[in-house]
Amino acid sequence: MWSPIDLIAGKPAPGQAFDYRDPLQSLRPLQDSYGRRIDYLRISLTDACNLRCVYCMPEDMRFRPRAELLQDDEILTIVRVAAELGVTKIRLTGGEPTIRPGMVELVRAIVATPGIRQVAMTTNGLLLAELAEPLARAGLRGLNVSIDTLDAVKFRRITRWGDLRRVWDGIAAAEAARISPLKLNAVVTRGFNEDEVAPLARLSLDHPWHIRFIELMPLGSVADFQQEAVVSSAETRALIEAELGPLHPVPGYDGHDPARPYRLAGAQGQIGFISSVTEPFCAGCNRFRLTADGKLRLCLLRDREVDLLTPLRNGCTVQELSDTIRAAVWTKPWGHGLPDGDVPQIRVMSQIGG
Ligand code: SAM
Ligand code: SF4
Repeated sequence: MWSPIDLIAGKPAPGQAFDYRDPLQSLRPLQDSYGRRIDYLRISLTDACNLRCVYCMPEDMRFRPRAELLQDDEILTIVRVAAELGVTKIRLTGGEPTIRPGMVELVRAIVATPGIRQVAMTTNGLLLAELAEPLARAGLRGLNVSIDTLDAVKFRRITRWGDLRRVWDGIAAAEAARISPLKLNAVVTRGFNEDEVAPLARLSLDHPWHIRFIELMPLGSVADFQQEAVVSSAETRALIEAELGPLHPVPGYDGHDPARPYRLAGAQGQIGFISSVTEPFCAGCNRFRLTADGKLRLCLLRDREVDLLTPLRNGCTVQELSDTIRAAVWTKPWGHGLPDGDVPQIRVMSQIGG
């Protein structure tokens, strides 16, 4: 429920901007009822993964059969329609996007879609040593690689069996293929890697990378563990500054990236904090998500979803698909309900894509 307090927090009244049924609205780029322009779609290519990170999914996670996932032509249809509606940026994620068969060809086809200006990917990096070069040739621009520690033993504990050397080989291959920007993501999990944040941040001194620290978010069956293990961005930042000195804001922040950029004195790269729990960035949110099983998720941390798979398989027209996407985006919630104890239940992070 909107209240005048929300206005002070930067939240306009819903419907204040435009009505999506207004005939002129069909000529306007996608936006939600709060007037936020939505031009960034994150697509989960699979819910499956070759790791089982403790903060992401239970060890005995069951994955969906392929027939229940969007096929390549279905993804490309949605991308084409989204681009016609004004989406310009796509991020491919998962589960682990690199394990999807035919993924490089899919990237090439998405890159070639009129209106799409940037296609990026978030990956655990295990398969990047072989895939970075083909992905670069397919037109991928931007890679986020998850790496929560520099210690091989801790890495295995966090991921349950991951080999940290392969991630470093993948990062080296991404650099050799000149994929840029290259961002390294670390979820800070108490008892697992809060002592690793300064060593990770130190990487920004000698590399042009963006090192980003993510607050643990509670979802689904692992929510209890996640809530106990959260380390606030304020604490992470203090740990870094205590060891490496003050962080200086980087000028030119556009308000859309959830990680406001900082820099250590003399560093080549940047440091960012994604503080979805303690300092949500809802006012600047410009994104929505497509799950591997074909649901539009309007807010990462809200369970409401809009099904696209069923209408697609029932033969809906392109216009009907377009109308469904526009109407869904219009209903994008202002933000999550974690402060009210409203924890999303129906999926874990790997089923959404982060
Ligand atoms: N498998 C790929 C990877 O790990 O980068 C892509 C999917 S993963 C779900 C996307 C991002 O979400 C990763 O950076 C991961 O660390 C992060 N993540 C997973 N579970 C999380 C949680 N509970 N809270 C915050 N971030 C989480
Ligand atoms: Fe897999 Fe990424 Fe989740 Fe780790 S964070 S289990 S790599 S989907």
